[in-house]
Amino acid sequence: MFTLTPEQLAIQKMAREFTEKELMPVAAKYDEQEAFPAAVIQKMWETGLVNFTVPEELGGAGLDTLTTCLVTEELGRGCAGITTVAAANSLALYPILISGTEEQKQKFIPPICKTGKFAAFCLTEPNAGSDAASVATSAKQVEGGYVLNGSKCFITNGDVADLYVVFATVDKSKGLKGLTAFIVPKSDGITTGKKEIKLGIRASSTVVVNFDNVLVPEENILGGVGQGFKVAMQTLDTSRPMIGSLTVYDDWVF
Ligand SMILES: Cc1cc2nc3c(=O)[nH]c(=O)nc-3n(C[C@H](O)[C@H](O)[C@H](O)COP(=O)(O)OP(=O)(O)OC[C@H]3O[C@@H](n4cnc5c(N)ncnc54)[C@H](O)[C@@H]3O)c2cc1C
Repeated sequence: MFTLTPEQLAIQKMAREFTEKELMPVAAKYDEQEAFPAAVIQKMWETGLVNFTVPEELGGAGLDTLTTCLVTEELGRGCAGITTVAAANSLALYPILISGTEEQKQKFIPPICKTGKFAAFCLTEPNAGSDAASVATSAKQVEGGYVLNGSKCFITNGDVADLYVVFATVDKSKGLKGLTAFIVPKSDGITTGKKEIKLGIRASSTVVVNFDNVLVPEENILGGVGQGFKVAMQTLDTSRPMIGSLTVYDDWVF
């Protein structure tokens, strides 16, 4: 018979108690105001309920997929919007965990996880949703790196992030073989545009992010030039259970 381990049950209980004490009382307020839940997220981070999927040595909670889903299921019961803010951090860090070199992991992940900062996953564009191979954001090779130009839409945490994982094409004529993933720290050339007014998960912010002549050093490429589609698909495959579970809470657990 399938059962949860004592450790999984303890983590589930902790997430449930946090949800009832900290999320449920404020969920309606944040949803109605469509306000970013900074104070709640700070408490979640202090409790270890953000960056669940990041290994402990890099500053996360080090949870496996099933335990992550137990946590997001509980948190999502209280507020799917606030949980989306937390889950989006894991989404954005997954590409580095999956495809990053040891040096990239050590350089970029702990500063986010150990200080409670945010990261954003930047794939979608107005003409590149399900069809990720149609990304038009360009990455032009220059001495020492690549210059990014383009706009992403529907980016969760895009307006609060300190680190972006950006998918851009080094050559649009190559289709998905031109797609390349870059680790991009916040800089002056990155601005945010329209914030979406949503019918649900309104505590999470979903925005346009513009990249205007953003120079990215070559060592910030994830997985190699032309490997972006693989990086994106592996990230989405890995993160789907986490995102799905935050919408499925059922009272059977009581
Ligand atoms: C709240 C929210 C947060 C998000 N956060 C992020 C984020 O942090 N980062 C990010 O990069 N993106 C984010 N997204 C974007 C999300 O990943 C896209 O919405 C998704 O990829 C779908 O793209 P689309 O909206 O352009 O829909 P489309 O691709 O236009 O699809 C519309 C419909 O057509 C269907 N469809 C598409 N292609 C086909 C086909 N070939 N055959 C049959 N049916 C098809 C789809 O299943 C869907 O039902 C977010 C979206 C939302 C709503």
